[in-house]
Amino acid sequence: MTEKIEHIGIAVADLDRATELYTRLLGIPPYKTERVESEGVEVAFFRVGQSKIELLAPLHEASPIAKFLAKRGEGIHHVAFGVSDIRAELQRLKAEGFELLNENPKPGADRKWVAFVHPKSAGGVLVELCQDREKDDDHGG
Ligand code: ZN
Repeated sequence: MTEKIEHIGIAVADLDRATELYTRLLGIPPYKTERVESEGVEVAFFRVGQSKIELLAPLHEASPIAKFLAKRGEGIHHVAFGVSDIRAELQRLKAEGFELLNENPKPGADRKWVAFVHPKSAGGVLVELCQDREKDDDHGG
């Protein structure tokens, strides 16, 4: 069961420029910026109440975000739902016929376990599931 919209991911070409824009838009600076080398992205997070905005900029041309920007331009990239048991939720979605991009959760930005659902099976929206990652223990990540 999904518990909340954890964040909305937005693809941007230039993280500094987009961070400046969103700081003015939201009236607050990002609480964190982070490089996720495994995904080829640099991210900035803003709090919006219980949810967040995640800006994603590519670190290199092979990054999935670079490919997204080339094809679609800047804009909403994914919606992330917060769950308390990501493995159980992945099993549930698989049983419901959703195409999973990740069969197993992987370490994501902002101390989360994450997994993605293919947009083809989710009405054209790239869906991310995420669960808080308190310590690197039982998921082998
Ligand atoms: Zn995300």
